[in-house]
Amino acid sequence: MLARTRVGLAAARATMAGPVVLVPTMGALHAGHRALLRLARELAGQGGEGGDGPGGSVLVSIFVNPLQFGAGEDFDRYPRTIERDLEICAEEGVSVVFAPPRREMYPSEPQVTVDSGPVGRLLEGEYRPGFFGGVLTVVLKLFQLTRPDIAVFGEKDAQQLALIRQMTADLDLGLRIAGAPIHRDPDGLATSSRNVYLSEWERASALALPRALAAAAAAASAGPKAALASAAMLLDAASASDPPVELDYLTVADPATFVEAGPDYTGRALLLVAARVGSTRLIDNTWLTFGQETAAQAAAETTAETAEPGSLENHAAHD
Ligand code: AMP
Repeated sequence: MLARTRVGLAAARATMAGPVVLVPTMGALHAGHRALLRLARELAGQGGEGGDGPGGSVLVSIFVNPLQFGAGEDFDRYPRTIERDLEICAEEGVSVVFAPPRREMYPSEPQVTVDSGPVGRLLEGEYRPGFFGGVLTVVLKLFQLTRPDIAVFGEKDAQQLALIRQMTADLDLGLRIAGAPIHRDPDGLATSSRNVYLSEWERASALALPRALAAAAAAASAGPKAALASAAMLLDAASASDPPVELDYLTVADPATFVEAGPDYTGRALLLVAARVGSTRLIDNTWLTFGQETAAQAAAETTAETAEPGSLENHAAHD
């Protein structure tokens, strides 16, 4: 069922069996989104294929949110493939798709918006000022409009996922946030709606990102400095490739604060990278573990609402 308006959404929402699981997207759905939809179905209690009983429902929103695009970014050229998106949603057992036009989400320019706090000013927030405020504002609006029991987000956007969890806790939103592991194409590149911008040669250069993450994972036993150096070496070489990979940032960060992990850091950390190839900006990340996890981290991991982190190892072999 497709809802274009708030009124249409409210009517559709009233018919949905609980638990209702929301998957917010900007459309141009790909295999990574499909993985989120499958997790959403499982969380809704549909048990995937051959699952037992009807269970709850999956609600997908499709909205290219102008608030999170900066001047000179790709809002106008962002791929919009609504017909195909609806087919994919039908294939994946989605009950309701909410795809509002801009005026339905923002009847007037919002004056009160969400402040993403200190984590929102680092890394992606530094390179894309206002980005996380725009994301959190639209996500909060979507939560209000759809009233989900659970919402699913991808670990591909690790900083975004962390901020959504933080907003949910800090503002007592009372829903559960689930994280889905990064989905990769067979060549190792993380799937993204923006990958359609890449030429064949740009895509070949872009593979330096997952390779750098795999190199860091292989060096992680020697500590954060060594892991970072391994990734940096690959990306350095890629900066001289044709077409070049132009690095925005590469860092090993504490997954709670997104502050750079020092040389003596122990426990789970995120290696995060952002780079441009031609006019396409790409982000990627992977989990690394240094030394012994702290007891608090191990506990957080077992209670985290995430599936098993995706592995880069299968992809490292693709050369
Ligand atoms: P987007 O449509 O790009 O805003 O993405 C919608 C949701 O899908 C976000 O929660 C993303 O983190 C997630 N997502 C996009 N690509 C991937 C991927 N390759 N693996 C896992 N999650 C993804």
